Amino acid sequence: MIPSHASNSALNSPMKHAALWVILLTMPVRSANLPASTRPAPSAQLADNPEVRSALGWFARNLAAINEQQIRLTEIPAPPFQESQRAAGIKTLLASSGLEVRIDNTGNVIGELRGATEKEIIVLSAHLDTVFPPSTEVRVRHEGGRLLAPGISDNGTGLAALVSIARAFHEAHIKPRRTILFVADVGEEGEGNLRGMRALIDTYKPRLKAVIVLDGSGTDHVTTKALASRRIEATITGPGGHSWSDFGMPNPINALVRASVRFINTRVPSAPRTTFNLGQIEGGTSINSIPYEAKLKVDIRSESEDELAKLELALRECIAAGVRDEMESARNRSKGKLEWKVDLLGSRPGGELHANSPLLAALRAADEYVGNQSRIERSSTDANVPLSNGIDAISIGAGGTGGGAHSLNEWYEPAGREMGLKRALLTLLGVSGLAEEKAR
Ligand SMILES: [Zn+2]
Repeated sequence: MIPSHASNSALNSPMKHAALWVILLTMPVRSANLPASTRPAPSAQLADNPEVRSALGWFARNLAAINEQQIRLTEIPAPPFQESQRAAGIKTLLASSGLEVRIDNTGNVIGELRGATEKEIIVLSAHLDTVFPPSTEVRVRHEGGRLLAPGISDNGTGLAALVSIARAFHEAHIKPRRTILFVADVGEEGEGNLRGMRALIDTYKPRLKAVIVLDGSGTDHVTTKALASRRIEATITGPGGHSWSDFGMPNPINALVRASVRFINTRVPSAPRTTFNLGQIEGGTSINSIPYEAKLKVDIRSESEDELAKLELALRECIAAGVRDEMESARNRSKGKLEWKVDLLGSRPGGELHANSPLLAALRAADEYVGNQSRIERSSTDANVPLSNGIDAISIGAGGTGGGAHSLNEWYEPAGREMGLKRALLTLLGVSGLAEEKAR
């Protein structure tokens, strides 16, 4: 952590912000009011449409302004559970692109572009939050062509793409067939436990046809498989006492060690890949006290929900067995007994996009059009939530290159951003479709 710099607060003052938003508001307006094609089509056909071509061309003309936008957004702190200031900035930007914008009860910014039908919705999202605490220095440094700052790529790149794609739609007067929601959501990282995306899915599930998540940089991958994970805390408690005079009293640390040894001998399959990690262990007050409490935090992950459920059950059984072993061997049970509990700290559901999904077809067509190749990945992202609900979803990078995510040395290089923006826009239009001319 680095103490925040004095000029940082100046940058974040409302007046300074107002000035910064002008960058986007004053971007050139170029549109082509020409007839549009009539139905969702592969990217090559989509790009024949004059309005789509105009939107694609908008990116190339505004790359410097998009970089600037990414810097400004990154410099608005968005620590876990404190995304509101950055949310307000995104709201202003989306509203300036002609969207109807609101902030929901969870803190998500939702900008609506009404399509020919409101019965079917496509979401384009980017998460607002970073992993960094409030005092982190977030001013962006320049080193050659490289931008450096915590959160610059994850998810400065995704947010810059979100507002730029909305802007390109606006400037080119694109009217989609399905309604599009441009969403900057809260709570993607860590303890946020995907709360923003969960709330969004709760609200829109019946009408939601596809979710495209913009997360970080690059164009080399498409996440279609959601890695399921659970974070579990086991707590064992007892009366506690003196190491000498109370010898024989059941000991929570002993019980936890017995439970842990049982659990780490659990066999997990390599296919579907399933993992566990005993990540934190704590308890006790001094070397000559029988502790009154011991805690263990365990992270478990799997490509299969079934394996994950089995492993969680195994952990619970091991904790119960560890406590039982300790109680049975304790030399003086009259000196009290142990209690235990297991809490779920977080849970990310798994799921997988069907290989024949129209969303994947749209992404592949977009890749082909921009001359990109991308590999399928399994990862834990906002896309976990729709995928686990049976809704088509992918997570992709928004172009350029980045590295050092979740570290203070995180960096971003904008070269190649244009391809990422075009790829995302064409994928979006591939699933939203264009409104028929007569519907305009
Ligand atoms: Zn991210």
